[in-house]
Amino acid sequence: MHAHTLIVGAGPGGLACARILAEHGLKPLVIERKESIGAKVCAGGITWGGLISRVPAGLAEKTFPVQHIITPLQRVRIEEPTPIIATVNRIKLGRHMALQATEAGAEIMTGWQVKQIHEQKLVIEQKDGRHQQDITFDHLVGADGSSSLVRRHIGLTSTRVGIGINYQISGDLADMEWHLNNRYFGNGYGWIFPHGETVSIGAYAIKGTMSAKLLKKGLLTWAERSGFSLAQEQARAEYINFDYQGWRYGRIFLVGDAAGLASGLTGEGIYPAILSGEEVARTIIEPDYKSVVMEKLIHKHRLHSRMVRVTSLNSAFNCLAGEGVALGLRCGVIKFNKLEMAV
Ligand SMILES: Cc1cc2nc3c(=O)[nH]c(=O)nc-3n(C[C@H](O)[C@H](O)[C@H](O)COP(=O)(O)OP(=O)(O)OC[C@H]3O[C@@H](n4cnc5c(N)ncnc54)[C@H](O)[C@@H]3O)c2cc1C
Repeated sequence: MHAHTLIVGAGPGGLACARILAEHGLKPLVIERKESIGAKVCAGGITWGGLISRVPAGLAEKTFPVQHIITPLQRVRIEEPTPIIATVNRIKLGRHMALQATEAGAEIMTGWQVKQIHEQKLVIEQKDGRHQQDITFDHLVGADGSSSLVRRHIGLTSTRVGIGINYQISGDLADMEWHLNNRYFGNGYGWIFPHGETVSIGAYAIKGTMSAKLLKKGLLTWAERSGFSLAQEQARAEYINFDYQGWRYGRIFLVGDAAGLASGLTGEGIYPAILSGEEVARTIIEPDYKSVVMEKLIHKHRLHSRMVRVTSLNSAFNCLAGEGVALGLRCGVIKFNKLEMAV
C-alpha cells in the first residue's frame, strides 16, 4: 500500500491535517491504534480565542463567560461578554472532526498501530497482533501524541513534560474554577470544569517539579476539602509534551503534542494540535508556504515556557507568582487571553 501522506494518530492534530489535505484533493491515510476515535484523557476546555468560535455550537457541553481563580489569599471572578471557555466531549469532537476529514476524502484506519518506521515505509499491526502491513509514503505526519513514535524516530527526546490527572465524575455544576495552590499542585493548578452531566476535576503540574504520585495525593486532599469525594472514582493520567524543538524534518512533520506544542503553563493542547495540523497540511500542499500562524504559535509557546521556568524557580516564588497572576487578573492588568494559546 502507498500513501501520498501518511498521518499517524487520529487525535485533533492528525484529523485537522487530514481534512485540509483531503479538501485539496490529496488522499491522506490516517492510522489510529484505538478502535474508535476521540477517547482521550482530557478536561475538554476550549477557549473563545482558540476554538469555541470554530466548532459547531452544538459541540459545546457548557460555555462560561465567568471564570473563578482561587488562590490561598484571593477569590477572583472575571466576566466577559462572550464565553471565555467552553467544555467539549472529546469523543464527540473526535467524531465530528473524523466525519469532516472522511467527507472531504481522507481514509482513516482504526485499530492499527504503527510499530516501526523506516526510511520510506512503516509497519502497522492490527490490534490482535496477527496482521501486519507495510505502507510506503511520500510524506509522514507524526500526530501521535505525547509519546510519539515518529518523534522518537527523528531522534528527539521529550524532557519538558507536564502531568495531567483527570477524574470525570457525574454531577451538574455551574462554575468553572482554577485553583492555584502550591501546597497541593506545586507550580501547576487544580481545576473544576463542568460538562453536561459530568464534571472534570483534575490537576496539572510540571514533571520534574512534582511526581505524579504527589500530584495525585495533593489533588485528592484538596478535592476532599472542597467537598468532592474522589477516592472511589477512577483517575486517568497522561503526560502532556511541551518540549518543542521543531516541526518539519524533510518529508517528516510533527504536529500537536508530538511536536511538543501544548502549553507548558496550562497544558492546553487541543488548539495548538488543530492549528499545527492545518499548517502542516498547507506546507505539504505548497512546499514554499510560509506559515505565519506557526511562527505566532511558537512565539506564544515560548512565552508560556518562559513563565513555566520562572514559576519553577522555588515554591516561595511560585506562591508569589500565583497571587500576582490572580491580582493582575482582578485588576485587569493581566488579560485572561494571555494565558491561552490562541494566536
Ligand atoms: C488530564 C489532561 C487534561 C487536559 N485538558 C485539556 C484541556 O482542557 N484543554 C486542552 O486544550 N488540552 C487539554 N489537554 C491536552 C490535550 O488533550 C492534548 O494536548 C491534545 O489531545 C493533543 O492532541 P494531538 O492530536 O496532538 O494528540 P492526541 O490527542 O494525543 O492524539 C494522538 C493519537 O495518536 C494515536 N497514536 C499514538 N501512537 C500511535 C501509534 N503508534 N500508531 C497509531 N496511532 C497512535 C493515539 O491513540 C491518539 O488517538 C489535557 C491533557 C490531559 C492529560
